[in-house]
Amino acid sequence: MRVLILGGTTEAFQLAQRLAGDDRFDALYALAGRTQKPLLPATTCRIGGFGGVDGLARWLVDERVSAMIDATHPFAAQMSRNAVEAAAITYVPLLRLQRAEWQLQPGDDWRIVADMAAAVAALGEQPQRAFLAIGRKEVAAFTAAPQHSYLVRAVDAPNAEGLPPQSQVILQRGPFTFADELALLQHNRIDIVVSKNAGGTAAYPKIEAARQLGIPVVMVARPAVPHAPECADIDAALAWLEELLRPEAHRE
Ligand code: NAP
Repeated sequence: MRVLILGGTTEAFQLAQRLAGDDRFDALYALAGRTQKPLLPATTCRIGGFGGVDGLARWLVDERVSAMIDATHPFAAQMSRNAVEAAAITYVPLLRLQRAEWQLQPGDDWRIVADMAAAVAALGEQPQRAFLAIGRKEVAAFTAAPQHSYLVRAVDAPNAEGLPPQSQVILQRGPFTFADELALLQHNRIDIVVSKNAGGTAAYPKIEAARQLGIPVVMVARPAVPHAPECADIDAALAWLEELLRPEAHRE
């Protein structure tokens, strides 16, 4: 069965690796091409956009894809929308593999905001030392608040013109440990953390470290995406694919 995995997350990579070793499946792993040295699974890989809903729909038909798993990051909302629409056009079954959101724990001090513009506003007027752990794409929003100084962490360097004036960039790819995150926040005298509610374990230690130090977190809520069948782990995604392999599934 040809399976398209829309990737870019740890779970997407792990699912692709599982399918790569399973000769019932012929998995295709798709990435947008944002990172310079992406982690690629041992499946056929395709890098670059499809060209919107129509491009994806055409590609699904041309490549005879029988199932699509949207395992993109919860903040990759455009790709998730496109997947829902293309699945509806082509009747290719779609499953969204998405980790659960982080939940507020005792001791957390979160300011939950709807988007990055609201995150900028949540930093307030008084100068602060903020840790931006949001990837590089949306760092430019913080040029609107140049009174703060920023520690920006990303996998690849953000464009210099999109950086706020008082910025320091560190290039790191997760997973991160609690001890390292604690040291990073302390060493850099961070007053406030800005994070997306990504979910999962790899990026969570910064939230735990902020809790330990009593540092507030501006938590950007996930963007809304249209409904699709969902699961939260790789085993459930595999079970969904196996169900599609059953002969009865094709008669319905
Ligand atoms: P996005 O805004 O939802 O998507 C913008 C466009 O990029 C899509 O319309 C599509 O182009 C292309 N695209 C996105 N994901 C793709 C994929 N897996 N395969 C092929 N094309 C893809 O996406 P984004 O937020 O820029 O994220 C891009 C990638 O980075 C995704 O794979 C995502 O999983 C990963 N990622 C994102 C974040 C984040 O915070 N946003 C964090 C970690 C990883 P066409 O319309 O031309 O098809």
